[in-house]
Amino acid sequence: MYQADYHIHCSYSGDSDAPMEEMIKEAIRRGLDEIAFTDHVDFGYPDPSFEAIDYEEYIPYLESLREKYRGRIKLALGVEIGYQSAEHARIQDFLEKYPFDFVLLSRHMSEGLDYYTGDFFAGYDQKTSYRRYFESVLRSVRQQENFDVFGHLDVIVRYGPFEEKNLAYADYQEILDEVLRRIIEKGHGIEINTSGFRYGLGRMHPQVDFLKRYQVLGGEIVTLGSDSHQAKDLNDHLPQMQELLKSLGFKTFATYAKREPVFHKL
Ligand SMILES: [Zn+2]
Ligand SMILES: [Zn+2]
Repeated sequence: MYQADYHIHCSYSGDSDAPMEEMIKEAIRRGLDEIAFTDHVDFGYPDPSFEAIDYEEYIPYLESLREKYRGRIKLALGVEIGYQSAEHARIQDFLEKYPFDFVLLSRHMSEGLDYYTGDFFAGYDQKTSYRRYFESVLRSVRQQENFDVFGHLDVIVRYGPFEEKNLAYADYQEILDEVLRRIIEKGHGIEINTSGFRYGLGRMHPQVDFLKRYQVLGGEIVTLGSDSHQAKDLNDHLPQMQELLKSLGFKTFATYAKREPVFHKL
């Protein structure tokens, strides 16, 4: 079984203190064949440390570690870009500038409002909040063509003052089908992000009904990521996710090299 964790943060991200090399050593200890560093670049985020990575330093450092651990683990140069329409031009310039292997597109804010702080939910009920989030996801995948995989598609359930942490795909089917169709048509993929287990949701992002629908619509590209910000969370639940994908009828999962998907048998 090929094992790859394709969503990892290290101390270059504003919300992690884990040194890059420590993550690599632990990944090797855990038997991973490959990892992708996907540190946060979130232009326009209220906390400016989320757009402060110096890639002129980052890339040579990652390359030196690639050399040091060659033959023991494969390291992909990735990034988790937080999308906001207002930052579109900056995002394009940034992505054209650096030789990423893998670009993960996510939303951490919509309408200029943060989910994490709760601002996004003020004055809205649950369904309306989720609908606004999914509409912003649809805008993202329509406006932004330069990415590989859309991250944690239903992450919105983590936040907000609502007790119920599940949602029904069917309640948002019209929007979500458009999101998934657009992703599939453009040759992009989605990820299974296992951080939901650590957030007490007892499941991954997105929910299984999203994955089933993605498969029915013809989606084939799926990456697997723990969204670890600490070495102890590397590869969290990912072997089980390979089993889950297999049980849903998927034949492969993906990693990326120089922005091209590489498929691994499940
Ligand atoms: Zn994220
Ligand atoms: Zn992340």
